[in-house]
Order: sequence, then structure tokens, then C-alpha cells
Amino acid sequence: MRYVSTRGQAPARDFSSVLLAGLAEDGGLFMPESWPVFSAAEWRALRGLPYAELAARVMAPFTEGSLPGDTLRLMTQRAYAGFGHAATAPLVQIEPQIFALELFHGPTLAFKDMAMQLLGQLFDHVLAERGERVTIVGATSGDTGSAAIEACRDRDNIDVVILHPEGRTSAVQRRQMTTVLSPNIHNIALQGSFDDCQDLVKAMFNDAPFRQEMRLSAVNSINWARIAAQVPYYVAAALALGAPERPVAVAVPTGNFGNVLAAWVARRMGLPIERLIVGANRNDILARFLASNDMSVHGVAPSLSPSMDIQVSSNFERLLFELLGRDAAATTDTMQRFRAEGRMPVPDEAWRRATALFHGFTLSDEGTLEEIRRLHRDSAYLADPHTAIGVAAARAHRPEKGIPVIVAATAHPAKFPEAVEKATGFRPPLPPRMADLYAREERFAVLPNDLEAVEAVVRGHARRNSH
Ligand SMILES: *Cc1c(COP(=O)(O)O)cnc(C)c1O
Repeated sequence: MRYVSTRGQAPARDFSSVLLAGLAEDGGLFMPESWPVFSAAEWRALRGLPYAELAARVMAPFTEGSLPGDTLRLMTQRAYAGFGHAATAPLVQIEPQIFALELFHGPTLAFKDMAMQLLGQLFDHVLAERGERVTIVGATSGDTGSAAIEACRDRDNIDVVILHPEGRTSAVQRRQMTTVLSPNIHNIALQGSFDDCQDLVKAMFNDAPFRQEMRLSAVNSINWARIAAQVPYYVAAALALGAPERPVAVAVPTGNFGNVLAAWVARRMGLPIERLIVGANRNDILARFLASNDMSVHGVAPSLSPSMDIQVSSNFERLLFELLGRDAAATTDTMQRFRAEGRMPVPDEAWRRATALFHGFTLSDEGTLEEIRRLHRDSAYLADPHTAIGVAAARAHRPEKGIPVIVAATAHPAKFPEAVEKATGFRPPLPPRMADLYAREERFAVLPNDLEAVEAVVRGHARRNSH
């Protein structure tokens, strides 16, 4: 499988190169040159397989030419072995025709582990094969940093430096990062905001000599491998509910559009997904786009579902590329105008194509608490704020009778205990394997908001290539 850039000015690459590169050289996002399509018989053959096996088979067309099938299978087995549930991603019915697909049984209690645990294996494998090493640098307001740390801890070819804003992440989120004491993991508590952290990371990547010397790399949500690793769980859930004979719908609480894009990919591969429902909090750019073709940037406002507090959904460019008939020049032009004018000029015809499949939904913080309360009262189900938005979206936009809706349950309720307690009066306990999180030793460096100081720390930690 070869990958092309949505901006059309970068050479086609294979899976391993796309994995290490992240973003294409022309600023675009990588997409498969063509879509693999499974027949009904091929879908049926996956039914009932253990999750790791199913994941390897669904991903095989995407890694073809880069990774032997056996190697991929070994990696999916290792990636999901540490999950706290024997089904990896169990499907739980929460009301008639609405099912929560629990994606939060990984080491950091959020869905990003589903992809990141595998990405850690993939990076390690490809780097070892090439005799290379990298320093992964990232900024986090919570979930992404801990998922990257858990995925890369103790790996020989990778050093990780994660910046978080001092005092501005939840205690659970911070401790999930700072209690990992592996020698290749380094946490920086920055005296500044999340935006300051992001600006410093960008500045390090823009410092070309530094970037080269440290072999900086990122594992952010535009990496194609992350999307590919998120496709299998939609397949597993749909098969369990009767696909390919019976269609399903999918509802996803959305931030960067990566998770819902993976569901779109599953559909493109022939899985009968009839509708895609996009849940948002008050940061509702996607819902506004779907309602009235208004993709315009407003400021980011904090909410009870912080992992969805985004201004621009970076993976949307991939859908745009498809909506525009894979016209890279038109995609480039649209993205450049979006950047310059703060409003994306999507042609009406393309927008209509999107709305035929996607439905948008917005929920306030009060509505989110009410939904958590309702689920607890009516279904004895404890949902985190992100999942609650997904469930409310599913209820509001479910298709006609007979079509079940799969809701991506993206975080464990114990990851957001304050909101859950506020809604239910009940503080969700951490799973037993993490019960001692608050007693574990923490390690992090506190640094001023200063590029030189941060670069000095990264330089001190990066174990560079000896050649
Ligand atoms: C990252 C995240 C999301 C948003 O996922 P995207 O792929 O960025 O749309 C939703 N919920 C939780 C809990 C997350 O961590």
C-alpha cells in the first residue's frame, strides 16, 4: 500500500515512512492511494475472532509491503495484552438499540491507548529495522501525553519528552504521566498555559538544526497509523451487532476528528455503517459545519469534556480531500483559505455529500451532567463526560428503528471523577490495577516558559544516534 498527500506535492510513501513522518513534506496528511474493500464473506470470516487477531487482519491491507502479517499480529497481541478487559473493547448495551463500545480499558483509561499502544510497537520495530532512534516531543493538556508515555516507556530506540502546563491538568492525568519512572520518559511541568506548551513544541520543530540533531518526532493525531489502528474496533462492534447483514450507525464524541474518521474508513472499506453522528461540546465547529456549512473558527472555551476543546479538527482535511473527489489542488486551496480567513469555503455540493452521511450534535456542560445523571439512574451506567455527549448524540440522531447505534465510549468515568461526582453524587473508583496511582512516586522538572531552557533539557535527555 502506498500513501499520497492530501496536498498532492509530496512523493507517495509506504506505511513505515508515513508512520515516522507523520505530516507530509507539503504540509498535507497522508491517505491510502486506494481503499481496500472487504466482501461480505470477508467480513463474516472476522466474526468472533479475538480482538488482536481481528485488528491485525483489518489493518493488513494498510501495512502491506511494509510489515509481514505475522509481525503485525505479534504487535497487536502485545499492544492489547495489557488491557484491563479480556474483550479489549467490550460492547455494553445501555438502552434499546444504543450500545457503548468501551475503548477505555487501556493503561491510561482513554481511547487513545487503542492506537497508541500499537504505535509504540510499530515505532520501535521500524526504528530498530532502520538502525535509527527518535526523540518524541509533545505538548499535552492531559490524555495524549499519558497515552504516548505509556506506549513508549522502556523502548530502546525512543526518548519521550512531554510538556504539560504546571497545575492545569487533573491530578489523575498528571499522575498517569509523572509516575512513569522509566529512564526514557521525561515530563516537564511548564510555568505557562497549554498554548505555551504547544508553542514551545512548535518552536522546537521549527528549529531545524535542533530538530535534526535530536531527531525530533511526534505521535500526534494526524499520524495515519493512529487512524488505521482505530478502524478495527468499529469492525468488531458492527460484526457483533449483525453486520454485514445488518447495518449500524456510529456516534462519536469528537475533537480532532480522528476517531470518527476511522469509522468513516471502516465504511469506505465496505462495512455497512449507515450514519455517522458527531458529538461536540460548546466548541461546536463541526456541528455548525454540518448544520449550515459554517466551518468558522471561534475561540476555544473550556468545558467538562476537555479532550474535545478544540478550535480546528486537524483530521477533517482527510474527509475534505474525499469530499472534493481527491482533488489535491482544491484541498490545498480550501485549507489555505481556511487558514487565512478563519472560515472554510466548502462547495455546497461537497457539503451536501457530507450531510447525507454525517449528523452533528452539540451538548452544553449542564446537558452533559444531566446525561451522566440519567444514564446512571436509568441504566446503572457510569459514563464520563465525553461518552455522555456521544450517547446524547446517538439518542438525538438515531436512524429509524432496527438500526443499532454504536457509541464510542472514549474515557473511563474515573478519569473525570469531579464531573461524574457532580452529576451522580458518586465518585467513581479507579480500576484495581491503578488503585495506588495517588500513592506512586512522581518525577517531573518544573521549567519556565523559555525555549532555551526547554531545549537544554531535551538535549540532556536525548540519547542520540552514535553514528
Ligand atoms: C482525544 C479524545 C476525544 C476526541 O477524539 P478525536 O479523535 O480527537 O476526535 C474524545 N474523548 C476523549 C476522552 C479523548 O481523549
